[in-house]
Amino acid sequence: MTVGQKLYEGKAKILYSTDDPSVLLTYFKDDATAFNAQKRGSIQGKGEINCAIASHLFKLMEKNGIPTHFIDRPSGNEMLVRAVTIIPLEVVVRNIAAGSLCQQTGLELGTPLNPPLVEFYLKDDALGDPLLTLDRLQVVDPASAAKVDQLKSMATQINTVLQAFFEQCGITLVDFKLEFGTDAQGQLLLADEISPDTCRLWNQAETDPDRRVLDKDRFRRDLGNVEDAYRQVMQRVLNQTV
Ligand code: ADP
Ligand code: MG
Repeated sequence: MTVGQKLYEGKAKILYSTDDPSVLLTYFKDDATAFNAQKRGSIQGKGEINCAIASHLFKLMEKNGIPTHFIDRPSGNEMLVRAVTIIPLEVVVRNIAAGSLCQQTGLELGTPLNPPLVEFYLKDDALGDPLLTLDRLQVVDPASAAKVDQLKSMATQINTVLQAFFEQCGITLVDFKLEFGTDAQGQLLLADEISPDTCRLWNQAETDPDRRVLDKDRFRRDLGNVEDAYRQVMQRVLNQTV
């Protein structure tokens, strides 16, 4: 596999072409951003940690019948993936109220959401990734709107598998963001990444609302020990065979 040109540099990853047009190489960076890139920094070792966690979790998904873009992890920071056309939606699944849901609704942090809440945000940094209603989605992007039922069903299945997995790690899966894409055959695949950058994860051994945080909220809220938290997630995740 020969690596080709840089196609796109995002906030957390760089995409490269390869000699196979259906395959891309993603390079996971240590760069960290929050609040739509208004806050920028770096988390030492994050690229490798997130690449390891995401690879492991994609394998877990495949084992549970959920198709993903994951092919291989040829080195620490690199993941080979199937090239897809990304659906411009951020699909968010919430098991427990936190973050923007609390800010926008007044729900108290930690309120259990049963059944889990599945939300669609428009993936558009310039617009600040706004929350969509189904009717707005229909107006803005009818092609994606047509896939909403399938996306919701996949996101719910992913949640069931991930929740059970993290439970075995002694971690509560509070919420997470997913991206999906379609490959050249039109198959819907789970894409992008699943990592402490994209999930809220609480250590079940801690009750303190700050100490329990094992995800990017440590960076967002300057809670310190960000790298330690990410590393702890990686160790617990990799300890569980899939
Ligand atoms: P961003 O700053 O847009 O969040 P990232 O740093 O996360 O970007 O880089 C990854 C980019 O690659 C994202 O835009 C994501 O949608 C896209 N992407 C993820 N997986 C794939 C894939 N399999 N094929 C094509 N693009 C992908
Ligand atoms: Mg991203």
